[in-house]
Amino acid sequence: MVNGLKEQPVKTIKPTKPFIPDLVYFEPDSLNYPKGAAIMQWVRDQDIPYRMTTSHNRITNLPGDTDAQKYKNAKRTLVVGVRKTLKFDQSKPSAEYAIPISTGCMAHCHYCYLQTTLGAKPYIRVYVNTDDVISAAKQYIDERAPEITRFEAACTSDPVGLEHITGSLAELITFMASEELGRLRFVTKFHHVDSLLPLQHNGHTRIRFSINADYVIRQFEPATSNFSERIEAAGKIAHAGYPLGFIIAPIIWYDGWQDGYADLLKRLGETLPKDATEDLTFELIQHRFTKTAKTLIEQRYPKSKLEMDIAKRKSKWGRWGQYKYVYPDEQQHALREFITEHIFKNFPKATIDYFT
Ligand code: SF4
Repeated sequence: MVNGLKEQPVKTIKPTKPFIPDLVYFEPDSLNYPKGAAIMQWVRDQDIPYRMTTSHNRITNLPGDTDAQKYKNAKRTLVVGVRKTLKFDQSKPSAEYAIPISTGCMAHCHYCYLQTTLGAKPYIRVYVNTDDVISAAKQYIDERAPEITRFEAACTSDPVGLEHITGSLAELITFMASEELGRLRFVTKFHHVDSLLPLQHNGHTRIRFSINADYVIRQFEPATSNFSERIEAAGKIAHAGYPLGFIIAPIIWYDGWQDGYADLLKRLGETLPKDATEDLTFELIQHRFTKTAKTLIEQRYPKSKLEMDIAKRKSKWGRWGQYKYVYPDEQQHALREFITEHIFKNFPKATIDYFT
C-alpha cells in the first residue's frame, strides 16, 4: 500500500522468443551442405520432429482439419532445401534485386502480402546453398558496374526471425562488406539481432526496422517482437555502426491515426540513442490490398479489424496483374504530409526514401 492506495500490479510484457518450429522437413540433398547438416543437428538437439521430403516446393500433408488450422501449422513448419532458381527478382523501389535466402514467415501480420504471393505454400523455406546465392549476387554486381547494386533480403520473408537457425544473413553481410559496388538491405519486425552486431560490415548493409502506430502493432501484427524490443534492437544496430532505417508500413487510416503516428515518431525520437539518428532513412508504405488478399485475410483472420472496403479505396493496376486498392488521393496526401512533418520534427537529419 502506498498512501493508503492499493498498488496496481505492474504489467510486464513477455520477451519475444526466437522461433522454434513444430515440424521440420529436409530435402535429402540439403544434408550434403554444411548448413543443412548444422540445421539437422540443431533440430535433433531441440528434439523437434522431422521428416524428409522430395522437394521443398511440395509439402502437402501438413496437419490440420480445416484450412485455417493448416495455415497456422504451415507457419510453424520449416522446410530446409536447396535453392535451384538463382535468377533474382527485381525489388523496386527499395533495391535492384531480391536476394533469396528464405521464403515465408512465422509471424501473423494480417495484412502481409505473402498470404497471396506464397499461395498454397505458406510454410517457411530456408536455403542451404548460400554460396551459390552469393556467386549469383556477385555476377549481378559485376554486370551493373560501375553502378552500385542493392540487394533486398526480406522480400519474401523476415530473415532476422530465422537467423538463429540459418546464419545466412551473417554470410551475406560479410560477403557484401568486401564488395565495393554491392549493398545489402533487409527489414525486420524481430529484435534478435545480437549475432549480427560483431560482424564486419563496412557500412554496406542497411538494417531497417518495421514500425507502426501502437494500434496497428497490437491489432494486426501477432507473433512479432513488440515496439520496445524493436527500438532497443535498432539502437544496438546503430551502435554497431550499421546504417539504420525504419519502414512505416502499412500506414493505416483509422480513427485516431494522427495521434497514433505522432506518438510513434515522438516515442522513437525519445527512445532512439542520439548517435543512431545520423544517416537515418524512412520508407513509407500505405496499406493496400487486392481482392484475392481480402478473401484470404477474411478466411484466415475472420475477426480482424483490418478495413478493406473497396468502395472507400482507389484502384491502381498492380504488377501482379491485379488491381490493388490504396487510399484515395486526398487521404494519401494527408497521411504523407502528416507523417513527413512528424519525421522531420523528431529527426531533422533523416531522409525519406519514398512514399508509396
Ligand atoms: S513479419 Fe513481415 S513477412 Fe512476417 S508476416 Fe509480418 S509482414 Fe509478413
